[in-house]
Amino acid sequence: MWHHPATQGNVHQLRQRGAIIIEPEAGRLASGATGDGRLATTAAIVGSVRLAVGRNGPLAGHRLVISAGGTHEPIDPVRFIGNRSSGRMGFALAQAAIDRGASVTLVTGPTQVAPPYGAAVIRVETAAEMLAAVRSEVADASGLIMAAAVSDFRPAEPMEHKYKKEGPDSRLRLELVQNPDILASIDQPGLVKVGFAAETDDHVANARQKLERKSLSMIVANDAVTTIGSEESTAVILIRDRDPEVLPPMTKAALAGLIIERLAMLLTGERAGLTDS
Ligand code: C5P
Repeated sequence: MWHHPATQGNVHQLRQRGAIIIEPEAGRLASGATGDGRLATTAAIVGSVRLAVGRNGPLAGHRLVISAGGTHEPIDPVRFIGNRSSGRMGFALAQAAIDRGASVTLVTGPTQVAPPYGAAVIRVETAAEMLAAVRSEVADASGLIMAAAVSDFRPAEPMEHKYKKEGPDSRLRLELVQNPDILASIDQPGLVKVGFAAETDDHVANARQKLERKSLSMIVANDAVTTIGSEESTAVILIRDRDPEVLPPMTKAALAGLIIERLAMLLTGERAGLTDS
């Protein structure tokens, strides 16, 4: 029925009038046939509604690149060095940006969490792959948010075959080399850069240093131990020439909303709207 010329003609006419169509999904149909025609999933329907409601928001016309998750740095074909990042913060930021009209490209490390509906998703594993993807995607973007927990180091020479524990030596020594700093290395005039600082001590002072060193417009400092992999975050937002904004504990979705609102003000030049704390 979906592919019938009458249905397609009507759908085409609706699209021309500006209607947003939530397409049916493929699978087994009530008639017993298989094909396009199943009711879209709840996630797709809710996601489409959010996309439609947000499309005239303050970030309409802006393209954001958002990194999420942690990187995996191979030791051998089956083992890697990784971290506990879930990807939730980056995905929450992508959803909050879509809700405000931005077009979003997510560059994400391996994660179990479903990305928000409407984001273009580029999946990567290593820091080198993330650097290459971010570099090519930011070319026509107005903002870059690096929420990914990028591994600072990688094995210097990943082993070609799976490492076997048999042998005289009960120790394994791995030589690690430093990964490039993606956020610091991107130097694009006009690009608003936002970073995260997961700290265990002196959160604000350390984050302020990173804000300067990586030429950021905004940095979000949080506690590495309680935040990484968790549903909630306790954060401090630092914006250039502003007092730190100390936030109470909140869900990553709520924090993402606050970060994106501040980014929207930076992008649209409404700095006066940013409150001093
Ligand atoms: O220096 P530190 O790793 O604490 O900085 C954290 C910020 O820098 C985060 O926004 C993170 O995504 C980014 N970063 C990066 N490339 C790295 C390491 C961190 O872009 N190699």
